[in-house]
Amino acid sequence: MITNRVGQQEAIEQECFLCILDPQPCTLKKLEGYIIDAREVRSEGEMVPFITINVGTELAALTLTRYYRSLIQALVDLGPDLHKRKLKLRVYHLPPAIRTTENKGRLVHHYRANAYTLAILEPDTVLNITDLSHAEYCSRQYLLHRLVSSPPSAAAIRGNLVHHSFKELLKEHGGSRPVSDHADGEGESPLSTLSHYFEQALERSSIDLALANVSPDEIRVDVVPHLESLATWFQKQYATLWDMPAATMHGQDTEVDEQKNENGVRAETFLLAPEIGLRGRLDLFWKQTGRQRLLELKTGGAKGDLPNAAHRWQVQGYHALLAVRRDSKMKKALATLLYSGTPGEAVDFGIPFTIKQFQRVNENRNILVLSHVTGMPPAPPGPSRCTKCAMLDQCTQVSSLLNWQPPELDTQTNGNVGAQLIAPSQRTDSNVRGHNESRPPIVQPQDRLFFAKYYKLLHLEGRESELQQALLWKTTVKERIERGSAIDNIQPLEMPEQTEQDEWEQTFLCVNTSELRQGDEVLLSDGDPITGEVVTGTIIGISAEQVRIWTRELIAHPRLIDRYNNSIVNVRTLQNLIRWLQANTHLRELVVGNLRPRFDSTPIAPRADFNVEQNLAVERAMQMHDYLLIHGPPGTGKTSVVAWMVLCRITC
Ligand code: SF4
Repeated sequence: MITNRVGQQEAIEQECFLCILDPQPCTLKKLEGYIIDAREVRSEGEMVPFITINVGTELAALTLTRYYRSLIQALVDLGPDLHKRKLKLRVYHLPPAIRTTENKGRLVHHYRANAYTLAILEPDTVLNITDLSHAEYCSRQYLLHRLVSSPPSAAAIRGNLVHHSFKELLKEHGGSRPVSDHADGEGESPLSTLSHYFEQALERSSIDLALANVSPDEIRVDVVPHLESLATWFQKQYATLWDMPAATMHGQDTEVDEQKNENGVRAETFLLAPEIGLRGRLDLFWKQTGRQRLLELKTGGAKGDLPNAAHRWQVQGYHALLAVRRDSKMKKALATLLYSGTPGEAVDFGIPFTIKQFQRVNENRNILVLSHVTGMPPAPPGPSRCTKCAMLDQCTQVSSLLNWQPPELDTQTNGNVGAQLIAPSQRTDSNVRGHNESRPPIVQPQDRLFFAKYYKLLHLEGRESELQQALLWKTTVKERIERGSAIDNIQPLEMPEQTEQDEWEQTFLCVNTSELRQGDEVLLSDGDPITGEVVTGTIIGISAEQVRIWTRELIAHPRLIDRYNNSIVNVRTLQNLIRWLQANTHLRELVVGNLRPRFDSTPIAPRADFNVEQNLAVERAMQMHDYLLIHGPPGTGKTSVVAWMVLCRITC
């Protein structure tokens, strides 16, 4: 079985995914090497991007298209000695070499890229599609989003609830059932289905609601218009939503019949495309008779010109993920961007995809990847953007901490923008530019040293983790099993169990020789996590013979588990570094041990049924001004002490 999957992988890799798009087949499918020089040169009367890579014993000199001008500029900005940075470039789909020359005894093959040639910087650095949309306003925002956390908000909870309800509506009325079965006035209406799933999900969201300080009634008032808009849209679109006519397919009934078996809707479909260094999770994805369709639902940002540019980028990124996987016999995927925040009826937009958009997605990715691997941001885009930027405070703060070039502000509106530590939630109208409030900088030199040191260390740790992750697509299943990062041939022990959160848990029988542990993030796939069906999940129990996995969605033929190192821990640690600097100075001094916790001497009456140590713990807790640590082996009565402390605190 392993051999078969590897064989399939090789077969897929032998095809050039760009030859499916370009009427002219390429001569050289793939070229990869380290960048040794990058600049613009004059060619046929115009300046063009020119890059030289070391491909082993020979060199490749590539004249690229205008989509690579921003990359060349960013590489030039890194200064001399570019070759020492060991930046990898992978180039797909090249015409034949136009000439070969010699340089210091090495052959140099010269290529002129065509419009379909794609050059991927550091392809093993896999960015999330949402990273591209986050950086739509300014590419520096990519690094900022990794550093500044967003607190739970009513808008985020609303988004999750609407997404969940809509996903369940589409799954319930999915393409696997004949059209005559539904949307005909019989059975539950779309709005009833949406409301049913919404109420279920609302009940499960009580902790999130409490953390965001929002009541269920407030969120209900907020969500109901979205559900009504979606129900109206769904009712009208239903007839064509699932109908991707077979007539546009291959025209061979047997093939169509085979593909019908694969029809169906999947929510939160995870796609990993290491060929182009991107990954993403599609809101809704369905296949029907040889055609793919994706839908991205937006529950906010439905004001101004639609579709919003950042949202369009996001969908084009998903298009790119699907383009890499596309079977030459398949039609191009249809993509819909749907806004539920438009009154009355949700508004949809078809998002087309051409090689131009593919190049633009890759252009953005390359710039973000350069920031990612160097840890350095691009230069600010200028006062007109910085002055209106929603992340100005965070950018000012982080620039000060890391010695980045600060944002550029309009001198007319530039107040004294101190490097204050402001969380996104704290931003109010009074600290939007244009108010010349003067705020004293509170970033101390020792904060800068502390932050810069750990930022650098976490950056190195993150890069190492990415190298480990790349083994997922650079090694075979057999090698991954030998390394202890995979378990193959898993067999379901039972049917999947649905959790209260509408997610899934399932136990599999296996021969586990891996180093996987409870709590590890994994990919559960049909045998190939890159080209096959795959979901992300978490191990919730594991032994030598069994493994139990939690996943958001199900796949039809689970067979293989692979470790999946996503960057979430690294990002959270970075964000916590910033939060640490935002913390009250007294608290920070206490935590690092520069100050001792304070206690007063208020007498506290002992409790007759407590022993001496328990009474001492209660007394110290009542006298405490900062913090108190209570330590004791199991069975020493800590729980009773804590309960009594709480009671005393409330009643004192
Ligand atoms: S303040 Fe300027 S440099 Fe910073 S993220 Fe915003 S636009 Fe970019």
